[in-house]
Amino acid sequence: MDLARFPRRHYTHAPTPIEKLPHFTKALAASCPGGVGPEIWIKRDDLLGLFPGGNKTRKLEFLAADALAQGADTLITCGAPQSNHCRITLSAAVKEGLKARFVIEERVPGSYKKEAGGNNFMFELMGVEQITVVPGGSDMGAAMSKIAQELASMGRKGYIIPGGGSNAIGGLGYVACVQEMQVQWTDMGVAFDAIVVGSGSSGTHGGMVAGFVGNNIKIPLIGVGVSRDPADQEPLVFKEAQAVADLLGIGKIPREAVKSFGGYWQPKYSVPNAKMVEAVQMLARTEGILLDPVYTGKIMAGLIGLARQGHFKPNAKVLFMHTGGLPSLHVYEDIVLGRTPVND
Ligand SMILES: *Cc1c(COP(=O)(O)O)cnc(C)c1O
Repeated sequence: MDLARFPRRHYTHAPTPIEKLPHFTKALAASCPGGVGPEIWIKRDDLLGLFPGGNKTRKLEFLAADALAQGADTLITCGAPQSNHCRITLSAAVKEGLKARFVIEERVPGSYKKEAGGNNFMFELMGVEQITVVPGGSDMGAAMSKIAQELASMGRKGYIIPGGGSNAIGGLGYVACVQEMQVQWTDMGVAFDAIVVGSGSSGTHGGMVAGFVGNNIKIPLIGVGVSRDPADQEPLVFKEAQAVADLLGIGKIPREAVKSFGGYWQPKYSVPNAKMVEAVQMLARTEGILLDPVYTGKIMAGLIGLARQGHFKPNAKVLFMHTGGLPSLHVYEDIVLGRTPVND
């Protein structure tokens, strides 16, 4: 598939590494049936460009390019408090000489604190132009349109990016990632048996599904929900994958190409659980790679849980997509160190 017809900015200088995790694999096997587990590999999308990079970087390459092509001077987007997506959008805006404005949805009243550290600190340091805090359940699209109108009345031009950068254009970032990986695993001579990816606002998972279908890749792609169980998450991913496929002109996405697991994000989006703490500690202490508490810790908990249930064949090669998220780890230090106990 030729992505060259879509405007794109480049924020990362080389493919992100695919690495084998030998010590983590060994530790995981010890808790798998019969002491044999899958062989775990990792795609280091936590090393993408923009500071510090993560999956939103890939979406922003296409979204920011589209904003520039339309002559926008401001990126408008939305997210939860500690939004990685808002921080990476701001970083892209700064790099492109644009301004950024956010609408932050307080799903828990009073939970957005400017001085909270992590991403919130970076919003201020990188000079966000405006943050509008709205209550949980607000119409985020309407709140962003209002900001775009305010800008227009001042003779400026805003470009609205939906939550997580998950629309058809943003999803192209993960079609590009699939094409990047296809070259990597061919060069490495490694055939993966499964790929595990986080599934939230769905641009990452949905973009990968479109990339797999468009490039005729048959490796099972397993989403792990970070805020919804499959009955609610899979239709979202399917819709996103189809929107990306329509933009690319590659026809219909088979519904069965979308597969996800739930059960690892509870009690609530962004609220810690014990499996997440175990996963964050296990990868940090076996491989020196850090996960975050909101997304990748729970996604890795999903991989660990599936391995322990015997979901993967013994010694199957499983690739974990590390989607980034490091800044929020600093806001949950006591929890990931086990000083503040959490429930299952
Ligand atoms: C946003 C995010 C995800 C989820 O990706 P979506 O494209 O929203 O599904 C996973 N990991 C991290 C670190 C994120 O910031």
